[in-house]
Amino acid sequence: MGWRKHSELVTLIKSTIDNSTMEGLDIFDRALVEKYDISGPRYTSYPTAMQFTENFKLPDYRRCVLDTNAELIPRPLSLYIHLPFCDTVCYYCACNKIITKNKQHARPYLENLHKEIQFQGAMFDDDRLVEQLHWGGGTPTFISHQQMYDLMGVIRENFNLRDDGQEEYSIEIDPRTLKEDTLSVLRRIGFNKVSFGVQDFNPEVQRAVNRIQSYEETKDVIKTARENNFRTINIDLIYGLPLQTESTFTETLEKVIELSPERISVYNYAHLPHLFKTQKQIREEDLPSASEKLKILQQAIRMLTEVGYVYIGMDHFSKPDDELAIAQKNGNLYRNFQGYSTHANCDVVGMGITSISKIGDCYSQNVKTLDAYDEIISGGKIPVFRGYMLDTDDLLRREVIARLICDFRLDFSQIEELYISDFNRYFFNEMKEIKSMGDDGLLSVDDEKIEVSQTGRFFIRNICSVFDKYFNRCDRTTQFSRMV
Ligand code: SF4
Repeated sequence: MGWRKHSELVTLIKSTIDNSTMEGLDIFDRALVEKYDISGPRYTSYPTAMQFTENFKLPDYRRCVLDTNAELIPRPLSLYIHLPFCDTVCYYCACNKIITKNKQHARPYLENLHKEIQFQGAMFDDDRLVEQLHWGGGTPTFISHQQMYDLMGVIRENFNLRDDGQEEYSIEIDPRTLKEDTLSVLRRIGFNKVSFGVQDFNPEVQRAVNRIQSYEETKDVIKTARENNFRTINIDLIYGLPLQTESTFTETLEKVIELSPERISVYNYAHLPHLFKTQKQIREEDLPSASEKLKILQQAIRMLTEVGYVYIGMDHFSKPDDELAIAQKNGNLYRNFQGYSTHANCDVVGMGITSISKIGDCYSQNVKTLDAYDEIISGGKIPVFRGYMLDTDDLLRREVIARLICDFRLDFSQIEELYISDFNRYFFNEMKEIKSMGDDGLLSVDDEKIEVSQTGRFFIRNICSVFDKYFNRCDRTTQFSRMV
């Protein structure tokens, strides 16, 4: 379906709402949802961080970097910079953040971050071009404009940043914290993509999660982003928040569609107060029931796809001419810690507290506290806290999961060319489970390939988990969000 104009939209949304109660229009079969709505990983990495171990140390990380430097064709880099500060807390938040109104707190952290960038940059060969850069948080725009200039300056001095228009430099933005000219500063220092946190426009929901943000404020910020020629605008929403209903979320979606971002993420709120303390501020009785949540999700999928957004998978939607949709069509979409990526072959260098790097066959995570970060950086070292070295079995399972989650299809020959002689034999037990998912209509399978069905796309985490050899061994109900 082509892209619809706003004038068509209101009628369409109305008809969508009216139709939603009609029999036969349910996107999800309720029996399937009951069967497959268990807790499980989101596969931003495989194996997941649950497998990381403190036996992995700085020399292991260094060896991985040197090994990848020595490869015949230098692999490009994707840099992730973690800026953890926020001036207020959103109760639903599961990010690694530090809440403070005192802007001075950022200064010593940034000094250490500059040093880490120097240490890391010195390890990577100059021919390893940076194709992707992402500042995440926390709230990256917590820091001052001068601090933004300085930070990007240090990154440019220590890494070889691509600047030919093909680069993808993105930043997460809290529209409530922007100064008038912050977006033009960000554009000037090289960012071309922005991601705005919205979550929900309903005032009651916003009060219940302690995040007050008017529609007008967000609209103005997006207008400014367009005037500054940002290439891609993303809006983040969350379903399953307290006091949300199908009807309130429909109003939020209407407003978001009017703003016409290139990408929309609709995340499932995972209520895990035993893991994330601030979630204790959310009254359990205010959370929507499982069936209301499902209605909200169905409504979101229906409304967004009806107006032309493509469902990329795992909570992500994009316009059909967006790079994500095109990469998916061409089979070169990949998944990393920030979600979907069009830069499949990059090694990821994470810098700042808690950040995770993915270099060649290893994952490496930095220490989690400011004190530990300060202590190790002051000693002149990269603050590796834990990590994981993948073996051949991990590597091939990672590739299987990546292809399924990105392409919704897996040709066994792709894996056989790289790793094993007979896919069906190697995965004999897994294929029995896959075939039963085929009986449930989630996919079709033959001797050569698996193809995920339209229904199966919404259960992609379940399908991938079949190939996750660690999945059944961990305490999944307390560590992971629900699949649907
Ligand atoms: S959601 Fe964003 S702004 Fe809110 S507390 Fe978490 S990191 Fe900070």
